[in-house]
Amino acid sequence: MSSEDQREKLKQHFSKRVTSQARIVLDNWQKLKDSDWADLQWLDDLKESSAKLGKFASRFEMAQHQIVAQKLSNALDTLEKDSDIIDESKRESINNVIAELSECTQRKSDRDTQAAPRTFLRTPIYIALNNAENAQRIIKQLEFFGFRAVSFDTGEALINAAKHDKPETIVIDVNFGGEQYSGIEAIQSIQADHETPIPILFTSEEEDDIKIRLMASRCGGEEFFYKVVDLGQLIEKIEEYTNASPLDPYKVLVVDDSRAQARYIENVLTKAGMTTCVITDPMQVLIALNEFSPEIVIMDMYMPGCTGMELARVIRQQDKFHSVPIIYLSAEDDINKQLHAMSLGGDDFLTKPINPRHLASTIHNRGRRARSLLALMIRDSLTGLYNHTHTLYLLEVEIAKAKQNDTKLTFAMLDIDFFKKINDSYGHPIGDRVLKSLSLFLKQRLRKTDHIGRYGGEEFAIVLPNTSESDAKKIINEIREKFAELRQPAGDKEFQVTFSCGVASGSDENAQIICERADNALYDAKREGRNAVRSFRDDKHKPS
Ligand code: GH3
Ligand code: MG
Ligand code: MG
Repeated sequence: MSSEDQREKLKQHFSKRVTSQARIVLDNWQKLKDSDWADLQWLDDLKESSAKLGKFASRFEMAQHQIVAQKLSNALDTLEKDSDIIDESKRESINNVIAELSECTQRKSDRDTQAAPRTFLRTPIYIALNNAENAQRIIKQLEFFGFRAVSFDTGEALINAAKHDKPETIVIDVNFGGEQYSGIEAIQSIQADHETPIPILFTSEEEDDIKIRLMASRCGGEEFFYKVVDLGQLIEKIEEYTNASPLDPYKVLVVDDSRAQARYIENVLTKAGMTTCVITDPMQVLIALNEFSPEIVIMDMYMPGCTGMELARVIRQQDKFHSVPIIYLSAEDDINKQLHAMSLGGDDFLTKPINPRHLASTIHNRGRRARSLLALMIRDSLTGLYNHTHTLYLLEVEIAKAKQNDTKLTFAMLDIDFFKKINDSYGHPIGDRVLKSLSLFLKQRLRKTDHIGRYGGEEFAIVLPNTSESDAKKIINEIREKFAELRQPAGDKEFQVTFSCGVASGSDENAQIICERADNALYDAKREGRNAVRSFRDDKHKPS
């Protein structure tokens, strides 16, 4: 470890001593105040702790704390010469210094996020369009798919709302409010209030050049709709951008032998809405990987026992973690050493001391990329549902869990009725749109814990953990009825689509047997006239 590193580490370590001492001071003051300034034992403790704070702060070069500690000691000294009664004006001068101390002792990340507390509930989608009628039309459609959308008339109202309730996404005209770039400017101001960017879907009636597209993209624009906004496409995009972060926080493993440093990172990431697991002993990394299944790993470069680079190599040796981004954290600012470290399996490098905003946004971006790469491997590109292989894998995982916990598990196979006719009558692209609309419909109406896959062409498969065959049948039957009501647009025409479904449950059986049973039940539903849900246990398929 270089002497710079050591110095940095020591400084971080000792700065914590100062802040803990400051908390003791604040605590004593609180107790004195709670006793209505009468219990002088607390006054003595307050004096003693503030003198100690002054000493620590001066020894560890924390100027701000040193100044405040001095002010506090001065204010407390004036009491000694007086009687036992602490009068109003003296209380006030002590309170003022305490407020100062409290301000400089708060963690930076506390202050950053205070204005915008994060919630993990489903937050709204904000619509800011100049054409109010269009906005209402979009809101109606979104509601149909279970989204909550709110529209705004002015940029100011939008900015205010976003400050207090961070939306999942914003659909906005580039010139919302009437000026050429006023929509983009409102977004710039909104993004500055948040640690992680809100994905924005921009729409533009008039302008479409590289300049405006760059401006839009720089402030978080993920899509740019020019002239016509295809509602189906818009809903798909909203689904795409709302499906990720708020409900599924990124899982980050932090490996750092310095407890203080690890806690700091944990704090910043938790505040930015991520889930963390901290280990301070690098030898525990394999256990943590398997138990926590992180999506991103942050690790210190230099730790006792092994270096971050060695650890990265070990992690990379396991197929399962081959694509998990590894981010090094170090006071190392020698670019050659950084490059060398990255060639040994790291993906990024953050230099200490780290700015919390920078840390949160780096992890956010890495996490998003990691998820989209993973999605290429396990998801179907047309619908975004799990592909055939991964659906079967999830079925096996859930069968094992059901066995272990002695719970029920049901598997459903769904097939669209007369799909060939839809393609023949309206064309393949409309057929594709039907597949997407059914997949979105299933995603919206099933539980987060159910796994939905596209099994093949127009066939879907669903794994429903903790669900009996009869409950699954009931749930899917309701979905079937609702889906059949949905009007599918095709140019100036409309049509309706139905599906058939077979369900089978079991946890003693293997995946293959359950699939066959569900398939048999599906075949029955088809044979008996389609637009129906059949279960394996219905009449003749009772196990013999
Ligand atoms: P049934 O009610 O018996 O299920 O009749 P069906 O017409 O739905 O079934 P069939 O298996 O005869 O036809 C399935 C059709 O689905 C044939 C194929 O062209 C179409 N298909 C498969 N994959 C896709 C796709 O990705 N997009 C589109 N548009 N069509 C697809
Ligand atoms: Mg079929
Ligand atoms: Mg079919």
